[in-house]
Amino acid sequence: MFQKYLTYYFLLLILSILICSFILPFLFQKNIKFPQTSSDFIWPTPNYFTITSKYGPRKAPAGGASTFHSGIDIGAPEGSNILSICDGYISFTGFKGAGGYTIIVSAPPYQISYCHLNPEFEVSVTEFVYKGEKIAKVGPKYVKETSNNPYRDSTGNATNGATTGPHLHLTIRENNLAINPLQFFSNIIEQ
Ligand SMILES: [Zn+2]
Repeated sequence: MFQKYLTYYFLLLILSILICSFILPFLFQKNIKFPQTSSDFIWPTPNYFTITSKYGPRKAPAGGASTFHSGIDIGAPEGSNILSICDGYISFTGFKGAGGYTIIVSAPPYQISYCHLNPEFEVSVTEFVYKGEKIAKVGPKYVKETSNNPYRDSTGNATNGATTGPHLHLTIRENNLAINPLQFFSNIIEQ
């Protein structure tokens, strides 16, 4: 008698494990494509296509900004929507040095950084996002003073990283090495 129940319990246990490890993840998974190809990428700021600073060597425009520009700056007003250029998952949200408030999307072999964002993040780490999904808004020039933000302009007010005004800084890394983002958008942006 006892033996019979034990068999039932055992079967029930096996069934629960199967449901949890295979069936539930299958139901809730997002169909994300990896790896991506460059032709998959879309432009992050609808309606705004002006490159205010290109990728490569430059004179630093703001105190603390690098002389080698690791990405491109796209001129867009504060509050403009920023779309994910590809499928991926959020691997970082927070204040990140000269980039100010930053979101990083991982899409192996690429990592895409979106910088100088509105600090009220609308996505969180480990969340999956689709290409074209709104992930952030262009942030303000000035932000609340925090201990991890050393960036100030001549007024003495804390800035959103090393920035002279609202814009989106976009860095694309391939296997952790920054590359020129414009190579992915040659169809829409003249170089
Ligand atoms: Zn920049």
